[in-house]
Amino acid sequence: MDADVFVIGSGPSGVQAAIHAARKRASVVVAGKPSSSSMSGTEIENYFGSPPRPGDEILAEGIALAKSFGAAFLGQNVVSASAEDGRFRFSMEDGTEVVAKAAVIATGISRKSLGIPGEKDLFGKGVSYCAVCDCNFYRGRKAVVVGNDSEAAVSAELMTRYASETHWVAWDAEAEETLARKAAEAGAVMHASKPKAIEGDGKVERIVLEDGTIIPTDGVFIELGARSSADIAMDLGVMPEMDDSVKVGSDCSTEVPGVFACGDVTGRPWQVAKAVGQGCVAGMSAADYARKAE
Ligand SMILES: Cc1cc2nc3c(=O)[nH]c(=O)nc-3n(C[C@H](O)[C@H](O)[C@H](O)COP(=O)(O)OP(=O)(O)OC[C@H]3O[C@@H](n4cnc5c(N)ncnc54)[C@H](O)[C@@H]3O)c2cc1C
Repeated sequence: MDADVFVIGSGPSGVQAAIHAARKRASVVVAGKPSSSSMSGTEIENYFGSPPRPGDEILAEGIALAKSFGAAFLGQNVVSASAEDGRFRFSMEDGTEVVAKAAVIATGISRKSLGIPGEKDLFGKGVSYCAVCDCNFYRGRKAVVVGNDSEAAVSAELMTRYASETHWVAWDAEAEETLARKAAEAGAVMHASKPKAIEGDGKVERIVLEDGTIIPTDGVFIELGARSSADIAMDLGVMPEMDDSVKVGSDCSTEVPGVFACGDVTGRPWQVAKAVGQGCVAGMSAADYARKAE
């Protein structure tokens, strides 16, 4: 599938970017799940022109508007991205490929934690939230990937290429079947029980599951939900800041020509008004860039 502008994220910033890019007559494809937006399930209390209202309602209306201008919504997460020959290529959970002239990163802040004992204390000492970033440190060592979704499956398959032993802990597996099969065929050992604790003396030594299983390991990769903003940015050649935010200029451009970013992913304040404001700028900038890249 080809697009002028590919928007990664179906929250307010991504939807607004889609609206403004489509209004400039760019062909627009949007990835992401609206139900994963930070806005979903909230009451938005301070948004211009709107009394306090459920975030899901505002989002649904925005998506309907973007669709009416021609934007297509895939309703799926991006599992990998790359930049080649002045074009950006994305793979979705079901294997669909999208090639775009310009990309807008509107992924919000999606890093989720397990909230179990040991996770916080051993962060950076074997606990990681980014297999793509840290896989190289685990050559010939043991690794455990934790997560139920497609991203965890992709990370488990990736870790089998580095680690001497890879385990994948998924207690409520929802990963796309092909990706899950790939991870298993690559040698990832599956465990269907929830993690209870991560243990070790100054560094990760083991993870304990609720069913009593103890897996000795050097690293625990927590991959809950979608591929993180930082991972996607790096896939496209954009180096995230230390806090994983993506730095943008006044036109929402990043350091990579053709890649724009907007919303929570660009840093604080994490607010709908800022997200849609930047979405407007990013959408227009991306459409202009795509037109020149004809
Ligand atoms: C409890 C709560 C209450 C809040 N109340 C308010 C309020 O009253 N007022 C206010 O202004 N703000 C409020 N906020 C903040 C507001 O919701 C966010 O600032 C806003 O949603 C940010 O929009 P965004 O588009 O940048 O990111 P998000 O809304 O988080 O959307 C990110 C999108 O990216 C998608 N995505 C992520 N990874 C991938 C991937 N790999 N592939 C494809 N898609 C991906 C997600 O599925 C999602 O669709 C609240 C937030 C919370 C959590």
